[in-house]
Amino acid sequence: MKLANKVCLVTGAARGIGAAIAKRYVAEGARVAIADLDREHAAATAAELSAAGPGSAMGIAMDVTDEAAVGSGVAAVAERWGGIDVLVSNAGIQIVHPLEEFPFAEWKKLLAIHLDGAFLTSRACLPYMRKQGGGAVIFMGSVHSKEASPLKSAYVTAKHGLLGLARVIAKEGAADGIRANVICPGFVRTPLVDKQIPEQAASLGISEKEVVERVMLGQTVDKEFTTVEDVAEVALLFAAFPSNALTGQSLVVSHGWYMQ
Ligand code: NAD
Repeated sequence: MKLANKVCLVTGAARGIGAAIAKRYVAEGARVAIADLDREHAAATAAELSAAGPGSAMGIAMDVTDEAAVGSGVAAVAERWGGIDVLVSNAGIQIVHPLEEFPFAEWKKLLAIHLDGAFLTSRACLPYMRKQGGGAVIFMGSVHSKEASPLKSAYVTAKHGLLGLARVIAKEGAADGIRANVICPGFVRTPLVDKQIPEQAASLGISEKEVVERVMLGQTVDKEFTTVEDVAEVALLFAAFPSNALTGQSLVVSHGWYMQ
């Protein structure tokens, strides 16, 4: 098992990509804290994963934009399980509008969840990783960390920003064996994407079928959505990588949509 007894904190893991990463980690023997705004769903996902084993999971309520909630949530996990080995800052939302119509409050909300969330959870976890002499920080970026699309000014800005933050952590953490990486998925069929299909169809004046076939999958090599399992596999790679060789890197997992 690649993560036997490792303590992992995955934000936004009640459902979607985060839940798949938590599942993959538990299957490799990890103890996983499922931190999410949605307390009940986090607890239910944790119970399901613990029952499957061989690792275990617990749900914790956490708004990643709330400094106090992040601090107390991370401390509670570290106290219960003796440290933090892996942070996956995954919680995120999508809001689409043309830039000139983007409400400032919605711009700030999106940036706070993606960027403040990554900053606050990293800041809270790093001292535990330093104390134990190593750890892995993983941010959930996107192809939109590398590429732009219309209507997504806030999301593209936030996802580009995560690359910079990860590189700083890679440099600041290196002396204590702390690595930082960004996973950059293409479109994955989760509630976050399902919500965008009718919104983008309305904003772009095209059908929902065209949004899926042209906007979302048009550039892939196989017209396939990236799966939560594809992303979880990359999250395992970064969490379990045996050296610092990949630190500071981002990896695109997009069925060929974006190649670099
Ligand atoms: P999702 O909507 O299915 O799940 C997101 C989870 O985050 C939910 O459980 C939600 O309750 C939680 N969350 C939202 N705000 C939160 C907050 N303030 N504090 C704590 N938890 C919060 O989304 P998903 O598709 O699984 O996306 C997960 C991550 O992957 C996001 O960062 C997203 O930007 C990124 N991503 C998704 C796709 C995709 O196509 N789905 C592609 C690339 C990147």
